Amino acid sequence: MSFDSFDDQYIIPGLEMQSGIEPSAPTTTHFNAPDIDLNSYDNIIVCMSGGKDSIACLLHILEMGADKSKIELWHHEVDGREGSSLMDWKFMTSYNKAIAAAFNLPLYFSWLEGGFEGEMLKKDAYSRPHLIETPDGLIKLERDKTRAKPATRLKFPQVSANLQTRWCSSALKIDVGRRALNNQARFHHKKVLFITGERREESANRAKYNQLEKHTSDCRDGRYGRHVDAWRPVLSWTEEQVWAIFERNNVISPVPYRLGWGRSSCMKCIFNDATIWATINKYFPGELDALNEYELSFGTTISRNKKSIMEIAQFGVPMEIDDLEALQQVTKREYDLPVFLEPGAAWIRPAGAFIKSSCGPS
Ligand code: SF4
Repeated sequence: MSFDSFDDQYIIPGLEMQSGIEPSAPTTTHFNAPDIDLNSYDNIIVCMSGGKDSIACLLHILEMGADKSKIELWHHEVDGREGSSLMDWKFMTSYNKAIAAAFNLPLYFSWLEGGFEGEMLKKDAYSRPHLIETPDGLIKLERDKTRAKPATRLKFPQVSANLQTRWCSSALKIDVGRRALNNQARFHHKKVLFITGERREESANRAKYNQLEKHTSDCRDGRYGRHVDAWRPVLSWTEEQVWAIFERNNVISPVPYRLGWGRSSCMKCIFNDATIWATINKYFPGELDALNEYELSFGTTISRNKKSIMEIAQFGVPMEIDDLEALQQVTKREYDLPVFLEPGAAWIRPAGAFIKSSCGPS
């Protein structure tokens, strides 16, 4: 047990008792909480991006013996479903369906109407509604126009740890998940575990994250009695541990790592480095055109050093992609590769494993 988790579980509650303070029992915030009682929850929601860390979370709770009837997968669609394909991998929706089918789990999609592109083009307007799939069908959550004000973006999110300027993570993922929890009566008077796949190894910011804490949608003491814990099961894992759980469970690496990407974020993530932009430009010509045109029309580049994506791509040295099966998959909407290895086949470490610099946190 680490010092932090020992403090969380024993020292702090003990000090509270000695000082006469009602212990915050059970302590709700834990810097380290690698083992929790999954059986104490009514619902276990795994935020499934389709990247290695969220899949590792799913594999880990299955190895821990989680009751599959309580598990559901949630995927936030970055481009929405209104026709934009500006940012994400074409096959990502289909890949998430393939994962859900392979593990025989329910999957619910949710998105901001208009997606990344719609939010980026907001001009003196309110943000658009959220669309949330639920077991009872699709719900549309309008904005509260008595509280929000019309606003203008007309620029890409900026590369920053600050979620106000790097607005894509909050507007397209965090807010969507929070509203999906807040607006479903099936979570009233329930104990819900909300799982995400951040790892401390990824960035100095993530190194400070708590492993277990109240989710922002928690209202356990309120009218609806909704208890929501946010848990990051692989927070302290190394990348070696992540790939090891893939190998142990015969799960084939997601496509982006097979191509050589170090992370499976949006295909055209704002954190991509020159190598990734150059690789996209070489293997998927035309994919960067729309981003380039937007940068020109906004007069603001994605990069802080005012270089356009095209300039960065031309300056970068592309990777050589050897995995032709993965390369072909990139051009298709339907994911037509397997999720699991054929029986007896050897597990192959993808080209992107242990590559640190290709893209940043989302
Ligand atoms: S993956 Fe990159 S571009 Fe996509 S939402 Fe996250 S930070 Fe934004």
